[in-house]
Amino acid sequence: MILPIYLYGNPVLTTPTLEVDPMDPAVLGLIHDMFETMYAASGVGLAAPQIGRGIKLFVMDAAGFDPKRFSEEKRVFVNPVIIQEEGEPWLFNEGCLSIPDVRGDVMRKPRIQVAWTDQDGKRQLQWFDDMPARIIQHEYDHLMGKLFVGYFSPLRRQMIQRRLESIRKGMTKVDYPVFAALPQGGRNKR
Ligand code: ZN
Repeated sequence: MILPIYLYGNPVLTTPTLEVDPMDPAVLGLIHDMFETMYAASGVGLAAPQIGRGIKLFVMDAAGFDPKRFSEEKRVFVNPVIIQEEGEPWLFNEGCLSIPDVRGDVMRKPRIQVAWTDQDGKRQLQWFDDMPARIIQHEYDHLMGKLFVGYFSPLRRQMIQRRLESIRKGMTKVDYPVFAALPQGGRNKR
């Protein structure tokens, strides 16, 4: 089932999440729905707060970024922890399904070690680099209640203020189902 994506302004996006039981059947159903929702919105990552759930869970499929290089990077992260990050930070112009119409350069370290539980309940420990590392860092931030616009300079933040306000009011045109924080004069499309 395709779920509505919670837009900027919904408090669930800025609230740190709680650990979750990976063996809970409801979680398995949620994982399925999250992949479906992510693909429908042409995303490469989706975190549980983005569908209104304050739990430590995100999905990623980096093949959506480059199918040749990242065909093996379809993964589920339950209760992930970034253990360490290393390397010279690099800039990339990021976007976010919860903040449509806004993009911005974000510096992140290129190599990370992550511990997490997979969809089979197995604990994993692995290094990631390049785009998969960046997607994981972006989604991991979501689990901490942190949005990528938080990395923008004060000037850039000021420049996108009106756009953020429009997203909050549900006035930004989006071609996937969304849930706005303050829908103005209308109902949320669910
Ligand atoms: Zn995001």
